[in-house]
Amino acid sequence: MTPYEKIFENNRRWAEEQLRTDPEYFAKLSVEQRPDFLYIGCSDSRVPANQIMGLPPGDVFVHRNIANLVNNVDLNVMSVISYGVQTLDVKHIIVCGHYGCGGVKAAMQPRDLGILNPWLRNIRDVYRLHKAELDAIKDEAQRYDRLVEINVTEQCINIIKTAAVQKSFLIRGFPTVHAWVFDMRNGLIKDLKLDFRATLRNIQQVYDLTGSSWD
Ligand SMILES: [Zn+2]
Repeated sequence: MTPYEKIFENNRRWAEEQLRTDPEYFAKLSVEQRPDFLYIGCSDSRVPANQIMGLPPGDVFVHRNIANLVNNVDLNVMSVISYGVQTLDVKHIIVCGHYGCGGVKAAMQPRDLGILNPWLRNIRDVYRLHKAELDAIKDEAQRYDRLVEINVTEQCINIIKTAAVQKSFLIRGFPTVHAWVFDMRNGLIKDLKLDFRATLRNIQQVYDLTGSSWD
């Protein structure tokens, strides 16, 4: 059996396993999705959203791209956020980066990467915003680790800039936005403890789209 064929064998076994535990499993799953979490993470094959969160199908709405970026002209991620907030009513939006991110590393190399240039340029912009802090870290590995963390925080800020999130939070009190980094060296998620309300208030000075005060 080839690795490709093995997938279908795995899939049949997985489906049987679910039915053994709960004969109504797929009947219930096929009705609708009501996930509380929207997860925006890196495409890296070593960081599978549901597995690291310990959540089954139906519990997390997922968007992944190279280096977990939230770019305001990316129709894809903006549609996911809009649908997640306005239709699925997610309570939490998580941006999850990971240490050892190839996208973050590639972004900082002095090389022409073709179509990836404009995408990864977002990370150079993050670096420029935080150049003083990052340049002060002499150890290269530690500097990349910190850039991964700062990149996640900046992408969270990009989410908080959207009208969908600002309006929903003002009216309904959710979603809140969280900054995480997955460490594949020990399998653990680090919560960077983004202060959502303070970040919102701070960026509102420039990016308010609601015409209302948060206080
Ligand atoms: Zn990555």
